[in-house]
Parts: sequence; structure tokens; C-alpha cells
Amino acid sequence: MSNIPSNAPDPNATRELDRMRPPQEARTIIDSKITRLPAESIPLAAAPWRILAADLMAPEDHPPFAASTMDGYAVFADDSSPWREIIGEQNAGHVIDAEVTDGYTVRIMTGAPVPRGANAVVPVEATELAEDHVVIHQEDVQPGANIRPVGSDVRKGDLVLSAGTILGPAEIGLAANMGINPVSVSRRPRVSVLSTGDELVEPGQLLGPGQIRDSNRFSLCAALQADGCEITFAGQAPDRRDELEAFLDQRLATDDIVITSGGVSMGELDLVKAILFDSPDIQVHFRRLYLKPGKPLNFATRGDALLFGLPGNPVSSLVTYEVFIRPTLRQMMGMRDIDRPRVPVMLQHDVQASDRIEFQRGIVSVNVEGRLVARNSGKQQSSRLASFVGANALLVIPPRESPYVAGDTVQAMMLGAPFTG
Ligand code: AMP
Ligand code: MG
Repeated sequence: MSNIPSNAPDPNATRELDRMRPPQEARTIIDSKITRLPAESIPLAAAPWRILAADLMAPEDHPPFAASTMDGYAVFADDSSPWREIIGEQNAGHVIDAEVTDGYTVRIMTGAPVPRGANAVVPVEATELAEDHVVIHQEDVQPGANIRPVGSDVRKGDLVLSAGTILGPAEIGLAANMGINPVSVSRRPRVSVLSTGDELVEPGQLLGPGQIRDSNRFSLCAALQADGCEITFAGQAPDRRDELEAFLDQRLATDDIVITSGGVSMGELDLVKAILFDSPDIQVHFRRLYLKPGKPLNFATRGDALLFGLPGNPVSSLVTYEVFIRPTLRQMMGMRDIDRPRVPVMLQHDVQASDRIEFQRGIVSVNVEGRLVARNSGKQQSSRLASFVGANALLVIPPRESPYVAGDTVQAMMLGAPFTG
């Protein structure tokens, strides 16, 4: 008979929960909990930067008719007459009733349909106009010259855009071109953000003793906006169990992802961690990682809703966002490239290694030989948000006993383009 009370946490379960995990293992756990967001049909004009939910096949040929690529004269290529009589003018958007035969031509504009009988267009620069006829100063007019045949840009049935594509300028233009309107895109992830901590005040308020301003909420909301989310709530709460419980209960019912910052370390008032652990309907999947910064990241679920309890330090919360939340959002939306690109870079100075995988804010540039080189952005304390400003990468520093030295190669997770010059 055990004398442990029945409502006490199972020590084996707690031990497993507190096991330090490599970030990759954490990613695998998160992946297994992700539900693909449903598709919704929206007007094409509202679709820039949204994620295509299904493959798009061309419903028709493009161009839909043989079109001139030049302003000039539509001719029959084999015709060797020195001059042609002009029998009409073919502008874009209209079709005139004319047939080009030997000795005749139709003046034609770029994008206009090639008239019957014609099989080449002579550019206007190679002609000379004389009253009602034109002199062609080009020998050897090739059949097909300056004509875009039907379907030469896109063939009916071709896969033009595949599911998971982000609708940027070229993609949205192509969809418009193909007549796709409305378009089926992934619903935006619904995400709420709560900064927790008795010390937090709003920017714009005066600081009392021991107070600091909430910055995490602003950083996280900026990141969520860039990643295409609908932010359903953003606010802050003090370290009070009832308020935090009510917030989680409400947001987990409607959101796809709930993000909190603060309250997950080892302190007495680290209530987020305690509430997640105590709530019978919330499952905590991990809460300690071999990661620097970001060791106490909590990941939990209730039904399909995911909850990330981020550490409070501003850099820790942004790094854990980058490493875990951004790929999660992208996977939910069905994107294919869910991770930031990683490239090998050469260190420009020595770097101390730690016992955890460390993500250092880095500055990656192209040196005179065209190689990617990197330096960190100075002191790497997880409170020092200033050292994130201007960083275009996170340098991935694997754990080891000896330091990395200048000239060593490490991976850089690129947040932006490398600097040049
Ligand atoms: P915690 O994870 O709650 O122990 O907080 C760790 C550190 O991050 C403390 O110095 C907090 O004051 C700070 N911190 C927590 N939340 C925020 C926030 N929203 N904005 C800026 N700093 C924060
Ligand atoms: Mg706190």
C-alpha cells in the first residue's frame, strides 16, 4: 500500500516532464499535436500574403488567343511582296473581321489577337508607312515571329501554384491571370498573447519601484503579424492565480494558439507553470529544454489548442518564438518551407560554448571573397533586447566543452538577408 495521497502528482510523471530535452525532440512533440487549419474562400483582392490551401490548375490556356508581342504589321510570312496594302487596324481587346493574304497587312498592337491568315508580325521599326500601304524593310520574315501562341505562357491543366504557397505579388498576379477569384486559403491562426508578471506596466505609464514595462507582448505581436496571424487578444496580467486561470480557460476555448510570457521558471510566483501542471484538462508535454536562452519553455495542449508558456526575458521569449512557434504557425497553415533557412557561416571571433544549444543573435555578412561570415551582436544576456536590434540571424552554437574559435564554421538561422559590403 502506498501512503502517497491519490491527488499527489505521480513522481515518475513529474520526473519525465522535467527531463531536459533537446530542442529537436521538443519540435517532434509539437509536430505531433499540430492540427492543419481549415480552408476558407476569400476574394482575391483580400488574399495577398495568405497561404494557398489547394493546388491551382490552369482552367484555360494563356494567352487564350495567338497574340502579337510587338506593335507592327501582321503579315503572311511567305509573302514576298515589297509592299502591302493596309486593310485594317487590330488593337488589343477587339477582334476585327479581316483576313491577311498575299499583298495585304493589318496594323497590330502589342497584345492584340493575330488576324486570320497572318502568321508573323513585323515590328513597326522595320517598316515604312506610305499612305495606304507599308513597305517592309525586313527580308526573311519567319513564320511565328513576334507571336505568342495560344497556351505559350500557361497550358490548360498545368499546375500553376501548389498548396502551401504564399500569395506574394507574382503568385497573386498569376491567380488573377488564371481567373481564380475567390481563392481558397488557409484560415489565419487565431492567437492570443498574455504577458504575466506583477512588475509589468504599460509603455506610457510611469514606473513605480521595482516595475518594468511590458515589452514581450509588443515583440510577440509584431512577430505574429509578420507571420500572418489573427491576434485575438493581447494584454497583461499580474501574478494572480484566478486571473491567469480565467484567461487560459477562456482563450483555450477559442484560439488555435495561446502564448504567455513569464511565470515558468523556478520561483514561488511562477504561476503559469503551476497552473498548467495543476489543470486536469491541460496536458503539459515538456517544460525543460537543452536550449539557451529558453530552457524553461512550457508546451501544453487542451484539445486542439496549443499553449506555449514562454520565459519572461525578452530575448528568451523571442528566441523560443522563432525556434518553436513560427514553424508551428507555418505548418498549421500548410506551408512547405516552415523553417528559416540555415546556412554555414564562418565565425569572425571566438565564441564560448555552453552545455545547451545556444542561439546567439548574430550579424551575418558576405565578405570580400563572397563567403558568409558571422559575428554575434555583443553581450548575450537574455534580458538584452538591444542586441537583437539589427541582428539578421541566430547563430546556432552546439554545446561543447571547448570554445569555438575564429574561423570555425557554425550554422546560422537566417532571419533576414545577409549584409553586404
Ligand atoms: P519570469 O520568466 O517571469 O521569471 O521573468 C524573467 C525576467 O523577464 C524578469 O526579469 C521579468 O521582469 C522579465 N519579464 C517578464 N515578463 C516581461 C515582459 N512582458 N516584458 C519585459 N520583461 C519581462
Ligand atoms: Mg514573472
